[in-house]
Amino acid sequence: MTMEVDILELSDRSAKFVLSRVSTAFANGIRRAMVADVPTLAIEYVNLYDNTSILYDEQLALRLSLIPLVTDIETYRPQAECDCEGVGCPACEVSLTLSAEGPGIVHSSDLISADPKIQPADPNVPIVELKKGQKLVLEAIAHMGYGRDSARWQAGVACGYKNVPIITIENCDACGHCAAECPKGIIMVEEAGAKIAADDVIKCSLCRLCEKVCDINAIKVDYDEKAFVFTMESDGSYTAKDLVLNAANVVKGKVEGLITILDQL
Ligand code: SF4
Ligand code: SF4
Ligand SMILES: [Zn+2]
Repeated sequence: MTMEVDILELSDRSAKFVLSRVSTAFANGIRRAMVADVPTLAIEYVNLYDNTSILYDEQLALRLSLIPLVTDIETYRPQAECDCEGVGCPACEVSLTLSAEGPGIVHSSDLISADPKIQPADPNVPIVELKKGQKLVLEAIAHMGYGRDSARWQAGVACGYKNVPIITIENCDACGHCAAECPKGIIMVEEAGAKIAADDVIKCSLCRLCEKVCDINAIKVDYDEKAFVFTMESDGSYTAKDLVLNAANVVKGKVEGLITILDQL
């Protein structure tokens, strides 16, 4: 049995797809990898040279830490696994500087990165508004880390899955009660009976209200134990496609690690 992937929607930042012929544990592994185990770059230290804005230094540092940075997983590696042993070096961290004077709003696009490939994913994140004469001068150090250690490194947001619904309708008398009850509005009633369009089945939330209101048990709601509808969004550190690919690689790496250990027994 080989796994199957059916892409339903794909944009730069989000995706919806069906993964079939996999176990619940595998589906959960992919979801977990997207939120916790795919490393990203995020600002961790800030050296403030001048800050006369209304924000305290800590507040500024927190805001900066939550700005998603486009991450290059080929060039940078997690600091905890780097040869520098966590000291910080060009393989695991990048410096961004910012120098601004009011009046005006300081945005994420005002951060100047030492590596042109590493930029804020969204240039329009407001950081602070400076009044006339107020100044902000800083150097921020971003490094590669894992979402499991802090939200600042979490690449996947709103990542979830549900089993693919299976709905069967037999010996229906077309009373229409199920259609009136369905919160997703996906049941159509025709003379021949109730039916759900193939594309709409996936929208079913498995609430089973249709089953409850059918007096003659004509409609049955079930789900495929080995097929999952995934929805996911990326914070911008990766494209949605790359985030899924990286998550799959993380799961693959874990399996290979386990096989190596088992081989040695
Ligand atoms: S289980 Fe709920 S969402 Fe699905 S078809 Fe029935 S009423 Fe609609
Ligand atoms: S409630 Fe039952 S009998 Fe009535 S339309 Fe729905 S499936 Fe058919
Ligand atoms: Zn390093």
